[in-house]
Amino acid sequence: TARSPVRTRFAPSPNGALHLGHAYAACRAHDLARDLGGAFLLRIEDIDGVRSRPELVEAIFADLGWLGLGWDGEVLFQSSRLAAYEAALTLLKARGLVYPCFCTRSQIAAAGAQPGPEGLVYPGTCRALDKAEREHRMASEAHAWRLDMARAIAEAGPLVWHDLQEGDQPARPEVFGDVVLARKDAPASYHLAVTLDDAHQRISHVVRGADLFDATHVHRLLQALLDLPVPHYLHHALLAGPDGRKLAKSEGAAALAVLRDAGEDGPALLESLRKNHLAAGISWVHASYSFP
Ligand code: GLU
Repeated sequence: TARSPVRTRFAPSPNGALHLGHAYAACRAHDLARDLGGAFLLRIEDIDGVRSRPELVEAIFADLGWLGLGWDGEVLFQSSRLAAYEAALTLLKARGLVYPCFCTRSQIAAAGAQPGPEGLVYPGTCRALDKAEREHRMASEAHAWRLDMARAIAEAGPLVWHDLQEGDQPARPEVFGDVVLARKDAPASYHLAVTLDDAHQRISHVVRGADLFDATHVHRLLQALLDLPVPHYLHHALLAGPDGRKLAKSEGAAALAVLRDAGEDGPALLESLRKNHLAAGISWVHASYSFP
């Protein structure tokens, strides 16, 4: 079979200022594409209409320009892809693989939900609703759509994905429980949007931080259910701040805009990240959920 062309992507969410960790993520995706003679694409993950801000999109362009990380082709905005997300959800609904969920966060916590890779694992309350109650509540209550994980796994069968560093990974989406695919306030969750968009942009190598390693188990399952191509993955180590925890947007940690405004040299900074020469107080950390 013909080998598909190499395409990588950087996919920031415009809900906070990019920091050094983002510069590193973008650099790894960019460099892999350049090393393999492929394309480096940019996707703006602005599906969260409440938290995404246009000035932060402008700042992303400015930060990448300052770093000297040029991307190929047009920028893809998730906000332009809502119809595609809905179409995928419709398919899953027709196959009985998703169900509406009316629960609030506090109801989920009160139901004795256990911690999982991304917060509490949904205890399945709304999966048990009968058809009449479900339809009645759907007419009047805000609802998310959750994947029926057990049914989805039964339908897809055993799956494997490949990490360039860690090797073949048997998919273990079950530890996530019934993940949200469409939110009460957004037509797709991160998992659904990212999986559909990586396929839409024909990404051959998904390069991203180790904090998203486990999410790939869910993405692999969605690829199987939606008949999408399976890219290779590379999950890189994360940059940590002085407290040893991964850099967070909320802390304004090492914001690129601050360095840019201070007249720092963007390409030189990237070069030091490539060589693992880190700024004072910044170190590396591996983040991954440890499976029970
Ligand atoms: N938008 C996500 C973030 O900013 C990254 C998504 C991904 O690389 O899969 O963390």
